[in-house]
Amino acid sequence: MQDDDKQGAQPWGQQTFLTHGGRAPEQHHGFINTPVMRGSTIGFPTLDALEDQTIPFRYGRTGNPSSQSVERIVTQLEGAADTVLAPSGLSAISTALLSVLKAGDELLLTDSAYEPTRIFCDKVLTRFGIETRRYDPRIGAGILDILSEKTAAIFVESPGSHTFEIQDLPAIAQATKDRDIAILVDNTWATPLFYRPLDVGADVVIHAGTKMFGGHSDIMFGTISSTADYARRVRETHRASGVCAAPDECFLAARGLRTLAVRMAQHHANALEVARWLSTQEGVTHVLHPGLESHPDHALFRRDFTGAGSLFSFILTPKSRDALAAFTDHLELFGLGFSWGGYESLALPAAPKREAVPWTEQGQLIRLHIGLEDVDDLKRDLAAGISRYLAH
Ligand SMILES: *Cc1c(COP(=O)(O)O)cnc(C)c1O
Repeated sequence: MQDDDKQGAQPWGQQTFLTHGGRAPEQHHGFINTPVMRGSTIGFPTLDALEDQTIPFRYGRTGNPSSQSVERIVTQLEGAADTVLAPSGLSAISTALLSVLKAGDELLLTDSAYEPTRIFCDKVLTRFGIETRRYDPRIGAGILDILSEKTAAIFVESPGSHTFEIQDLPAIAQATKDRDIAILVDNTWATPLFYRPLDVGADVVIHAGTKMFGGHSDIMFGTISSTADYARRVRETHRASGVCAAPDECFLAARGLRTLAVRMAQHHANALEVARWLSTQEGVTHVLHPGLESHPDHALFRRDFTGAGSLFSFILTPKSRDALAAFTDHLELFGLGFSWGGYESLALPAAPKREAVPWTEQGQLIRLHIGLEDVDDLKRDLAAGISRYLAH
């Protein structure tokens, strides 16, 4: 769908595409950014025009220049055939799953999946006769041993939410290549700048655009990108179920994407530095960051990813809830809250939920999103918090 992106004989690099792709100033009086095109009705001058199925925009729900702009950027970044948009990351996940599953099918879901993804599978998909089984995120080629006749899709999230296991996606794709099994990947953490799942065997890639694409904690947004084999199924389900993203959100996502490369480079560097420092601190028993040499999946990370996201977890020696409150309630820079991906740092205590492989860590897990502040200030804030925690 890149037909009118003006790439010359040499295809553009990712950063050039982020800067110039998916926009057409000459169509908007020269204004650099594709404007917010709010609207439901599109007026047609004649009956011929009304019946013309080839025109790009026919109704607000099914697309407009604001949405097309983002679709093009994400399609190119993921190396996909097509991208559709959703009003949240979770909506992108549910729409993608509904696109590839039917009654009687079984879904294999990573045990490390984002919790609302599990809830959608357990509460909604079950009502339509679709069963979900959890698998060990470190299963790799072993996935072959747990496939059943009914397995129709595998939902991968790498690294896992809160626990940061890296999955051997090429091994999973290789093991299932003789079966008609859709491989879906939630790629929110790495962004397509650091990981391209479609290149290593995935069929569908999902992003919570709420996070790094938006980049400023001010939108809810989701994307689904797919290969040519899956594009029609996904677009059909998306369209038939009325899923669409608001034009204002599309505008802000496109604007966020323009600076994704510089932001990701900084998040990568800042988060890795904080992770390294935390692993030397008293009271910290474990740092779960795949970019650390000590991480059990570091070799896979080095093989398949070209950088790390802003998010990782660390584990504090077990203490009371009051000790945890002493840590969280007096942080100066780290906000306490859900979501992530903005310029500001966040902390979130969490308890991983497991079915396939028990979670055996005893201490208090805290997930951090490392923002764009000075790293020394972030370290001071965390050091003070850890002292308060240990003093309790
Ligand atoms: C936040 C998140 C989502 C859901 O995105 P929303 O826009 O909040 O619905 C999905 N997957 C991952 C990995 C996330 O972190």
